[in-house]
Amino acid sequence: MVPDTVSFVAADSPAHAGRTASGPTSVAGLSRPRLAALLPGLPDWRADQLFRWIHARHATSFAVMTDLPDALRTDLAARFTLEPPRAVHRRQAADGTTRWVLALEDGIEVEAVYITEPGRTTLCLSSQAGCRLACTFCATATLGLVRSLEGREMAGQALALMRAHGLPPGSPFNVVFMGMGEPMDNLDAVLEAFDVLTDADGLALSWRRVTLSTAGHVPGILALGRRAPRPRLAVSLNATTDALRDRLMPINRRWPLAALRGALAEFPVRSGERVTLEYVLLAGENDADEDAARLAAFTRGLPVRINLIPWNEVDGLPHHRPADAGVERFRDRLLARRVNVSIRFSRGRDVAAACGQLALEGMRPA
Ligand code: SAH
Repeated sequence: MVPDTVSFVAADSPAHAGRTASGPTSVAGLSRPRLAALLPGLPDWRADQLFRWIHARHATSFAVMTDLPDALRTDLAARFTLEPPRAVHRRQAADGTTRWVLALEDGIEVEAVYITEPGRTTLCLSSQAGCRLACTFCATATLGLVRSLEGREMAGQALALMRAHGLPPGSPFNVVFMGMGEPMDNLDAVLEAFDVLTDADGLALSWRRVTLSTAGHVPGILALGRRAPRPRLAVSLNATTDALRDRLMPINRRWPLAALRGALAEFPVRSGERVTLEYVLLAGENDADEDAARLAAFTRGLPVRINLIPWNEVDGLPHHRPADAGVERFRDRLLARRVNVSIRFSRGRDVAAACGQLALEGMRPA
């Protein structure tokens, strides 16, 4: 399969020259309170107007904001831009999944993925550039942590992809924080982005459409559970013994399976809500019948459903993808134990846009 590859560099604009010491250059993706802080002395409803123009109307200039006073528009235009993260590279897979490399104001690059399926569009966003968790099967881990993103940079990824794919304001789509990074290592900023995504005057998505995926950060799970409104929760489980999980996901040494299970048992799900447990299948490591039995036991009594993800190959990482028949057998073992389970065959595999394949070649350590 030859992917339709398009690469381009957007016109250089002073907007991307860098961030000033005094704050952001772009107000794209910025929350109401942060906008209000940029407008000292003005009533909050001025910030609300600006918020609506940016997020609910996709204004591309301050000049169009005709309900703001002239002097304010001129002042804003002198200080800020409305540019979301800049697209520097795009690759489209045969199945329509499109992987974007987006540059932030300081030049740091992150990836975001546009996933299209019949009747459903999903944006996969990054919460950090790189990641510090060092999971052995994940491409992003090879970068280490470059930096955490600001909330506006996450909501800005959604704005950038909406524009690039012609999604008008108000379009419904799903958002998953399953790109680069560990959202719980940057929870406040992720929740700030969640507020912009779900604000009726923002991107107006239902909380049901937004999912945060964690490698198993227990205090983060507990903190999320106390918050309302909040996104859905997904947890990457990937192993059913501490010995194996310690090796695959070093975060398990800090919060082992019993602690993780305890947090899930306490997690206050809403009516009909299920926490998703992601289970990446690694041939010969976590895909035996005994693993399925332990996985079923782990889920017993928890409000969860399981997503099986056959591992996507990442060059240089010491794992193997199981054959599809093995994946189905593993699923059938779970079904036989009445576990709610489905297989997620990742989209966009031919352009390395699938889970865990989001690492930027140019940023890899030498
Ligand atoms: N740090 C968060 C979110 C990013 S990873 C987390 O761990 O959940 C998103 C999902 O991709 C996780 O379920 C992870 O287990 C999975 N994943 C990582 N690398 C993968 C790979 N090479 N193939 C398939 N899934 C992978």
